[in-house]
Amino acid sequence: MSSFADLGLSQPLLDALLELGFETPTPIQEEAIPFLLEGDRDLVGLAQTGTGKTAAFGLPLVQLADVHQDTPSGLVLAPTRELCLQITKELKLFAQFRPLLNITPVYGGADIRVQMKSIKQGTQIVIATPGRLRDLINRKAIKLNAVKTVVLDEADEMLNMGFKEEIDEILQKVPSERRTWLFSATMPKEVSRLAKNYMQEPHQIKVGNTNETNQDIDHQFITARPRERLDILRRYLDTDPKLYALVFCRTRAETLSLADDLQKDGYAADVLNGDLSQVQRDRAMQRFRSRRVNILVATDVAARGLDVDGITHVFHFNIPDDWAFYTHRSGRTGRAGKRGYSIMVIHPNDRHILRRLDRKLNLQFQETEPPSVLGLVEQRLRNTIQQVATAEPLSQLNPLMENIEFALDGFSKEELVERLAAVAFQQLPSHYQREALQLLDPKAAKKKGKKGSGKVDKYQRLFLNIGRKEVAGIPEFIDFLSFFGEIDPKAVGEVNLQDKHTFFEVDIKLARALVNKFKGAEWEGRSLRLNFDSGPDGDKKGKKKSFRKSRKPGNPGNFKKKKRKGRKQRS
Ligand code: AMP
Repeated sequence: MSSFADLGLSQPLLDALLELGFETPTPIQEEAIPFLLEGDRDLVGLAQTGTGKTAAFGLPLVQLADVHQDTPSGLVLAPTRELCLQITKELKLFAQFRPLLNITPVYGGADIRVQMKSIKQGTQIVIATPGRLRDLINRKAIKLNAVKTVVLDEADEMLNMGFKEEIDEILQKVPSERRTWLFSATMPKEVSRLAKNYMQEPHQIKVGNTNETNQDIDHQFITARPRERLDILRRYLDTDPKLYALVFCRTRAETLSLADDLQKDGYAADVLNGDLSQVQRDRAMQRFRSRRVNILVATDVAARGLDVDGITHVFHFNIPDDWAFYTHRSGRTGRAGKRGYSIMVIHPNDRHILRRLDRKLNLQFQETEPPSVLGLVEQRLRNTIQQVATAEPLSQLNPLMENIEFALDGFSKEELVERLAAVAFQQLPSHYQREALQLLDPKAAKKKGKKGSGKVDKYQRLFLNIGRKEVAGIPEFIDFLSFFGEIDPKAVGEVNLQDKHTFFEVDIKLARALVNKFKGAEWEGRSLRLNFDSGPDGDKKGKKKSFRKSRKPGNPGNFKKKKRKGRKQRS
């Protein structure tokens, strides 16, 4: 891998890259920059957003611009005002140590006179939308006779948007000895025609997946609070037994904790992160490839370049740190003509970030809901009935059946199907059964709820510095809490048990007294700290109780005994 210094970039640009934190060139930059700096040939770059293509053409454009000239030597055409501004911003950052260089964006929807004025003041690089540039040419407000390089960015998009005529007109107006650099995510006929008509023996560079394959990806998002993410993922996994998924987390610790939670719930999940040795990585990849494991929880860095066929879903447990990561992540699915889903779980407060991502990557994110509990249950019932309908009878079993069959005597077909459905239903995790019954017959569920447990409907979220290291699982945690705090275990709602601490909900009426009771308390020589949770999830109203494990009424003081037995837990 080369460094930016190896690519022939001048010192002011290298200084700017250092300032920007660009350490190593992306593949398209590695190939395009030396070619564009040295050669005088045309270039076709097949690359989508996120590959670093702006810098691939922008750095050479900035370096080659002659600041002593006051008419443009570089001209960039881009489909939208947003892209125009984005390219301008990036090029200005590259040119921060070339103070005499002027870079001017011109686009529709803004006052043309202001743009005419800034062109008149002298500019070396113009970034334009085709329509506005044609207006400026027609008004004789811009001179293009000194243009040496024309960049057509997102050429396919420009043609999709109907700018063919404008582009033809503009390209006929710039000197014929100019160089043309064309970038496009796809190469439909119209783009090839453009290249054929206006370029001379262009060198071609292709990187990554093009948007051609990306059209097979549905980009979706779900708004949810962080604690709801696991439940959302479970819904997908429980609905679709063929799901083959990559889940991205931001940190290594998050990947571990998520994979751990999934494994405890019986899912075939594995981790891929930078803490693994090469051998461990290879093993994890092999298990995933062979589908012994159908969920791989990964960090961005560890999953770079991961190339596995047939991934159906990419889940983003966090918004990626860098836009480029989103493209890399989602590009793992929707390959070889197969449909893929890229689903981002975002905090309700982060919608604005998503809008930016949407614009930046020119994607249409669709808001979606995780599979509904009723949909999931229906799917399960359908699968079971389907399995029965398609099973081949085994005549060898007949002797065994003779004594068993009579148990079904007298049942009609409908009754048998009903019972089959009931059996399938009972095999579902109990929280789905409860939720489904509640949704199907809320009155009955309410009556049942009232009878069983003085139901608490308002919770306060609290933090306690006791976690998995101290207690074996959620039931043990609740025992601990009810023992120390002298509260009824039923007053505890959702519990999110972490390694060293726990967030949990408690009946709002008891919260203050509980916090006071823990003041100054010690356990095994440790000071206990119980606080109100002030984080983004610290809302007062408990929304879900789905993480709560069903349990017998508390047995004060035996939480440690259970810990030694190593009971199963989940958070
Ligand atoms: P682009 O494909 O040009 O839209 O670039 C995608 C993102 O990657 C932009 O936010 C760039 O600033 C960033 N980027 C481009 N090249 C590099 C690099 N070599 N190192 C780090 N970030 C980069």
